[in-house]
Amino acid sequence: TQKLTVKGVTRTYVEGKRRVEALTPIDLTVARGEFVSLIGPSGCGKSTLFNIIAGVDEPTTGTLAIDGDWDGERAGRVGYMPQQPLLLPWRTVEENILLGLDIRRLPRKEALQQAHDVLKRFSLHDFAESYPTALSGGMRQRIALLRTVLFNSSFLLLDEPFGALDALTRITLQMWLLDLLQTYHSSVLFITHDVREAILLSDRIYVLSARPASVLRVVDIDLPRP
Ligand code: ADP
Ligand code: ADP
Repeated sequence: TQKLTVKGVTRTYVEGKRRVEALTPIDLTVARGEFVSLIGPSGCGKSTLFNIIAGVDEPTTGTLAIDGDWDGERAGRVGYMPQQPLLLPWRTVEENILLGLDIRRLPRKEALQQAHDVLKRFSLHDFAESYPTALSGGMRQRIALLRTVLFNSSFLLLDEPFGALDALTRITLQMWLLDLLQTYHSSVLFITHDVREAILLSDRIYVLSARPASVLRVVDIDLPRP
């Protein structure tokens, strides 16, 4: 079965007397363990689609299934990292990581152990006691990615996580993400404006039209995995 199936999803916003179509019927799938990217012009409706998949918005028409469960509860079954993820500035890196685990209501002791292990595994333990404001942009994105994976590793929605990074940091983070995904066997839907990034990371790329977004083409990337 597919991890995610999106069938005929549309979204129309009502703004005063105006109706804004953000998505025309979108069909899309993500298989288990697959990395799928969405590329499309700014404002075409990518974030709208993510909000719908994450369960924080509802489609106007169409249906979705996660793990074969049609239109069931979606919130909590998806690790959603928005474009501007919020790291709580008054909490340390470790405490921010713990938030992902708190939401899953793990016992404190188990949560602390997991946070410690994962920070060590992904080479961030030196920063455990730091505050997010003291970290570089790349470090902050790693923390946000880790928190997302700990919240739900089985299916990730990542909204342009590397968009604000310089080119070198970006390459480092791309490799770091591949390591993270290999560890957790996550399925991923990924938004990017960088075609090279999409080719490097993806199994499949959906190219979307300008708003209202529709699928212009689907590109299979047949690069061998390490
Ligand atoms: P993208 O992520 O591809 O840049 P978005 O999904 O953020 O695009 O936006 C798609 C369109 O829908 C935009 O024109 C935006 O202004 C509009 N839109 C998004 N959310 C709302 C909302 N809550 N109410 C009205 N219009 C919205
Ligand atoms: P808890 O999760 O136990 O409520 P937090 O450390 O998250 O504790 O913060 C407690 C409250 O303080 C939160 O509800 C939050 O609204 C507020 N708060 C503290 N610092 C800030 C900040 N920099 N920006 C916004 N809200 C803040």
